Amino acid sequence: MPYKWPADTDFALWELDVLDRACPACGRMMHICDHRYRRLHTLEGPVQLVCRLNHCPDRHCPGHATTKSPELEATIALPNWAIGWDVFCWIGHRRCSRHMSIPHIQSELLDDYAIKLSDDAIAKYIQRYQVMLAARQQDPEALRRHYESVPEIVLSIDGLQPEKGHETLYVVRELTQKRVWFAEALISATADEVQRLIAQAKEWATSMSKTVSLWISDKQDAFVTGIAAEFPDVPHRYCDNHFLRDLAKPVLEADSHAKVQMRRKVRGLRKIEQAVLKRQNVKASTKGAGDDPAATMTVLVGPANSPSPAADSASAVVLDYCAAIRGILNDDQGGPLHPPGLRMADALEQVRESIQRNLDAKKGDSQKPNSADWPDALTGDWSTSGPSKSQSESTSRTSRRSPRPSNLEEGVAPTAKRSSRS
Ligand SMILES: [Zn+2]
Repeated sequence: MPYKWPADTDFALWELDVLDRACPACGRMMHICDHRYRRLHTLEGPVQLVCRLNHCPDRHCPGHATTKSPELEATIALPNWAIGWDVFCWIGHRRCSRHMSIPHIQSELLDDYAIKLSDDAIAKYIQRYQVMLAARQQDPEALRRHYESVPEIVLSIDGLQPEKGHETLYVVRELTQKRVWFAEALISATADEVQRLIAQAKEWATSMSKTVSLWISDKQDAFVTGIAAEFPDVPHRYCDNHFLRDLAKPVLEADSHAKVQMRRKVRGLRKIEQAVLKRQNVKASTKGAGDDPAATMTVLVGPANSPSPAADSASAVVLDYCAAIRGILNDDQGGPLHPPGLRMADALEQVRESIQRNLDAKKGDSQKPNSADWPDALTGDWSTSGPSKSQSESTSRTSRRSPRPSNLEEGVAPTAKRSSRS
């Protein structure tokens, strides 16, 4: 992957030599014939690799036409990588163990290590990591070592759909060691196809000489017949998670209904965001070019001149609230024991309290309750109350007098608050 380095990058220089310099063809001592320069990210900073390449000095030896690279090069980074193994493993671990999204990984790499990678580069590294991980997971020798001291195993099979609309991925897991054994996407999950997977699990267990003491699944027909055929004497239990989910179905239906009701009530986020952005832009334009409406039109694309810092951060807080609420409304996580609707109600209540604290703080500070538009806005009445001109003017007047983001909560910008009080 080609990578564009900033001109002022400070590289650590690592020089690598071929350790075994005997020509593989004739045994003669090889000579340095060329250098390969590589630049890559490591967790310790940018590195410039200088690899001294060797070949056989004898023109008639087959070892003359080929070059040998330093043995250690591949232990630092594979060919064409812009990152070392340490960064590669860091990315893979964040993805596979912590389930971080690519943008999240991208921003952490930048913040913690000043490593700037594009999202498709990260996606590519993750893909390679997964291939290596799968190969490692299925390595029979590693598996045997892992299960050496385990007397009996418990297997489970389930169909998952990692992405909506994709074919179902059938996963066989071993539960005592909490280990995914293998997974396969079956386009048509016929009883025969499913039984083939169960037979494969049997092969694995047999090859490790392990007794399967129990099978667990959601007991869909293909699982029941397949397991009965391959493991006639092994008990097959209902997965308690699926069992609970089935029991909880009516609860979740009511919960889903409640969610719809809440979503119906909390509306108009986009309108609020647009109004805030517009207000920012109008402010920028009035600052830069007076009240000329034509000038306003030209700056609507982006804030060319930033408005006063106080108004700016207050708008940022409003936008943050909008983002948080959107996240809450789109959150579908939580099973029957933590129904998503209850979680949504909790989270919305927290937002309401947070906004109320802002308003209380503002009243206490300025004795000017001039920004009561938030709760209205958040319950969808923004269009009726509207960001009236006088209101935005009074806001900017206040902010000019005291450059303090009065709408911020203590936790949001403690420094800004403290500095204004002193
Ligand atoms: Zn040779």
